[in-house]
Amino acid sequence: MENCIFCKIIKVEIPAEKIYEDEDTFAFLDISPQNKGHTLVVPKKHFKNIEDTPEDELCKVFKAVKKIAPKIKEAIKADAYNIGINNGKEAGQEIEHLHIHIIPRFADDKLKHWISGEYYEGEEEGIGEKIRKLI
Ligand code: AMP
Ligand code: ZN
Repeated sequence: MENCIFCKIIKVEIPAEKIYEDEDTFAFLDISPQNKGHTLVVPKKHFKNIEDTPEDELCKVFKAVKKIAPKIKEAIKADAYNIGINNGKEAGQEIEHLHIHIIPRFADDKLKHWISGEYYEGEEEGIGEKIRKLI
């Protein structure tokens, strides 16, 4: 898609530190990393978010994540990693080309994880049923 920064990276119209590429997916280092080795994995085709992405394309992206993530961990001697998708503006999605963050973690790093029970108390009555009915 025109004007999409990740489409431009895939087409090598703008530079990025490529980590991996196959027929359907592309992975590169995040320009503003949360931690050492922070990598983004994207489908080569432009899809905006999870809803927009066909199942087979999602499978291909996660297959690439499965291949790459342990190698990032090994290369930088990380202890663990977070895998995340910011799906939608309010969830923190800034680039509207689906991307999966692989963020390496170290026992002594300063990254903050969300804290259970800190932001939302309990669960609304009937929420489970509302969701189940739609699936
Ligand atoms: P999100 O907030 O989930 O949309 O994440 C977008 C990510 O893309 C951020 O972590 C940015 O640092 C990263 N990013 C933006 N522009 C570039 C770029 N040109 N090359 C690599 N990563 C980028
Ligand atoms: Zn794109």
